[in-house]
Amino acid sequence: MPAVTKTLELHLIDPNAHKERKLRETSDAYQQALQTAFNANCTTKSAVNDIVIEYDLSGYAKNALKQYVPQLCGDSYDADELHDEHPVKFTNEGIRLDHQPQNHYEWYAKIPHHDDYHLWFPAAPNPEQRPWLEALHAGDAEMGECRLLERNGKWYLHITASREVEALSASDTEWTPVGVDIGDAALVTVCHRDERSTPTAPDIYSDEASQVRHLRKTYFTATRRLQRRESERIIEEYGDSLWERIDHIIHRVSRQVVERAQQVENPVLVLENLQYIRENIDYGAFMNRRLHGWAFAKLHAQIQYKAEETGIPVATVNPRNTSKECHACGELGTRPEQGTFCCMNDECWVGEYQADVNAALNIADRYRSGESQLQHNRDSGQKAAGDDSATDGASLTGPQDSHSEGETRPATSGTNAS
Ligand SMILES: [Zn+2]
Repeated sequence: MPAVTKTLELHLIDPNAHKERKLRETSDAYQQALQTAFNANCTTKSAVNDIVIEYDLSGYAKNALKQYVPQLCGDSYDADELHDEHPVKFTNEGIRLDHQPQNHYEWYAKIPHHDDYHLWFPAAPNPEQRPWLEALHAGDAEMGECRLLERNGKWYLHITASREVEALSASDTEWTPVGVDIGDAALVTVCHRDERSTPTAPDIYSDEASQVRHLRKTYFTATRRLQRRESERIIEEYGDSLWERIDHIIHRVSRQVVERAQQVENPVLVLENLQYIRENIDYGAFMNRRLHGWAFAKLHAQIQYKAEETGIPVATVNPRNTSKECHACGELGTRPEQGTFCCMNDECWVGEYQADVNAALNIADRYRSGESQLQHNRDSGQKAAGDDSATDGASLTGPQDSHSEGETRPATSGTNAS
């Protein structure tokens, strides 16, 4: 299986004065150690070691220097002089990622300062790179070297990540769109049409939706109760276990969605474009909105990376009216109850229909109607083992990147969510 490598960029959110100072100290010590070892023309690890041992740096930064300086001074690179600013490199053992979905910033990154001392930062990822973070967090991608850098007064962590991705099948294939509706009543609803365009039996994950709702509710009830007793540690431990259970459900459902698609001939998984979902859905209270956004984004990202692992392409479509239109005639219908769609068109055979399945079919059909955002004209084929050493986190390596890239493009239909 070819491996694809990508640089993930996380913005370290507003470090306070203390943390800012520590980052600066780390960066300064690193620049000095690098400069000194470079000036001494160290061509071996042990020569670098003799120099960097004096510096107040973590072992992860020192080890990265031991790998880096001999490259600079040796035959492979042979640089005459160093540029002004170098990102601080760390070997991968030094960096940790944590996910705390109940917090305002979901992701946290651990940056080593010097031995036995590290700092945690809330970190904002590039939303397009969410599938990569999910894969890293689940252990399905491998972390490589990491770099800390400052740009325009802001601090960033660049993580090199790699994972195995199955090659896509030929580009002139007749694809079968498999519609995936991520919802509230059902966590996910999956449906596709057979070769005669007849809807197949859907998969509706409604039990999982109530499990997730229950776990969330338990978390918030328990948190309120424990907060009154000021038991922060218990909240944290208890909370972690609840979120892990939700995470587990989401991993299982996303895996099953991909497994269903694998049963279909030449499947393409079609999801709603998250960018529009955020604008399109009336979530109510802030907390609900945030949690919904979290579950949506997580499912979306996990389905995407698991599909890519098996070589199934993923496309996104504009979600406008996917739950309001009739999948048979295209007319706008009504939703007398949460789970029911009613077509108002007298000419149409659809009277009442399961609302989430209707939406999943609309999502699948938008792929065929040309509203999707995936390019299949990849005549260059799979680029294996791409390695982007670029410091730009948005740089693209393999063709897989175009899936996530598609999410930021404007919809081809040019219609905004209403
Ligand atoms: Zn209809």
